[in-house]
Amino acid sequence: MSERLINCNVCGKNIANNAVRCPHCGATTSLTKKNYKLIVVIIIIAIIVFAIIGYQNAQHASTMQMIRGF
Ligand SMILES: [Zn+2]
Repeated sequence: MSERLINCNVCGKNIANNAVRCPHCGATTSLTKKNYKLIVVIIIIAIIVFAIIGYQNAQHASTMQMIRGF
């Protein structure tokens, strides 16, 4: 797991994303907020994937209709 830098919610300075406390101001980083963001990102990716699959299926369906039409 690579360590990424995030901004502290309180002081805005760069802290490691896996840090429990900000080393600058001592504020605790909210893990639930990070999990929430991760869930939102997963949902967005899932929507995009389903949209692509749905679009390809729609294209496939219209292609099949064209073939049947001939
Ligand atoms: Zn801070």
